[in-house]
Amino acid sequence: MVTTASPARDSLATTGLSHFRVIGAGPTGALLALGLAHQGHSVDLVDSLPRQALLNRSRAYAITHSSRRLLQRLGLWSDLTANLTPFSALRLDDRATHQTSWFTLDDLRDANRKAEAIGWILDHRPLMRLLLDRLAQSPRVAMRFGVADIELSPSSFLVPEDWMIAADGPRSSLRQRSGALHWSHRYQQGCLTAKVRLSGAEPFTAYELFRPEGPMAVLPIGDDRYQVVWSAPFSLCRDRAGSKSDELLTALTSLLPQELSATELLDQPGAFPLELSLAPRLDRQRLLLVGESGHRCHPVGGQGLNLCWRDVSDLLDLTQQLRDGALKPRVLPRRYTRRRRWDLIGVLLATDLLIRFFSNRHPLLLPIRRVALVALAHLGWVRRLSLSAMTDGPGTLLTSLPE
Ligand SMILES: Cc1cc2nc3c(=O)[nH]c(=O)nc-3n(C[C@H](O)[C@H](O)[C@H](O)COP(=O)(O)OP(=O)(O)OC[C@H]3O[C@@H](n4cnc5c(N)ncnc54)[C@H](O)[C@@H]3O)c2cc1C
Repeated sequence: MVTTASPARDSLATTGLSHFRVIGAGPTGALLALGLAHQGHSVDLVDSLPRQALLNRSRAYAITHSSRRLLQRLGLWSDLTANLTPFSALRLDDRATHQTSWFTLDDLRDANRKAEAIGWILDHRPLMRLLLDRLAQSPRVAMRFGVADIELSPSSFLVPEDWMIAADGPRSSLRQRSGALHWSHRYQQGCLTAKVRLSGAEPFTAYELFRPEGPMAVLPIGDDRYQVVWSAPFSLCRDRAGSKSDELLTALTSLLPQELSATELLDQPGAFPLELSLAPRLDRQRLLLVGESGHRCHPVGGQGLNLCWRDVSDLLDLTQQLRDGALKPRVLPRRYTRRRRWDLIGVLLATDLLIRFFSNRHPLLLPIRRVALVALAHLGWVRRLSLSAMTDGPGTLLTSLPE
């Protein structure tokens, strides 16, 4: 267990500052805790896992421009630069119709083009190490990790300046105990993740391959190393994850574009079930659901963590107003839910439709898919619109972006 000095709370009642208890120190809870502390709020950050286990997840995240902006705002971007692998091209293949489309830097909106990447791939470990180190340096944050039994009654957090944040992931016990409404749909598809070495890949290129059994993302993580996020029926993912490494590499190579070949497995592959879920209201009294405790989507397009971080960004805008006295505490919960609603619905719907549309060989859908891919390949404005929806969020399509 790690414990730092508890921040002083006595003075909070006389200022616009609040006390936040953040349950869950995954990438969402840890980033939110840091943002709150930057604003001067005091934070208790609690996780049932010990620090080392929080760091040890073998996963790489696709980082979009909305996440870049948040990391820059919190002063983390420059310290992560050495660990970010940019990609300047994204190849989209529909295997059933044999159509290919490319996204390049020219398809970015002007405000994003200066960053000279369509997106970045960031490994979990350096991200979490930086977040936990920064949190440990903050006098306003108290951390408790490896705590097996946490008192989780939201009703005990009704003191006006106290807030409870559920950042405890998709199986959130806080959400369950609060009785918040939660819709969920388990996909038949699961997902296999593995880090591999590839030969023949274009430099600085990410690949999204739509295949009848499910989409596959191949994401550059530096040199000739790639993170593969391979969706297929869950039983198949489990079998593949348990197969011998040369069998897995052969199966993978047979599905990749012709010039690519998987030559080495770099970690232990994992198989995960996939679900679509949403809590239609992210607030319950003074409990706020942030990140995957409130929503979850298919990993197609690498939206998951970016969507969680847009929760963080919107909530930080509101807590800033709270601190400045521009927002009353009783208004914040509903405003948070309202502000997040259309982005969440847009991304959840879009990822779900992509899966339904592309994970099959339905003869009636094939001509429509062909037209969609041809439009993407030949019409710049279609590419710009889709890329902006993916990287900034669908809610920003009609607004100007901050520089
Ligand atoms: C296979 C796969 C591939 C993915 N690929 C991508 C990708 O390429 N790009 C992307 O953006 N996203 C991706 N995602 C999604 C991404 O991993 C999640 O969006 C992200 O981890 C969510 O972060 P979180 O902090 O909300 O939840 P989590 O990471 O689940 O963190 C929750 C934390 O809460 C803690 N906790 C749980 N219960 C309690 C409790 N009772 N008390 C205290 N602590 C508790 C847990 O220990 C954990 O540390 C992928 C997901 C999967 C499954």
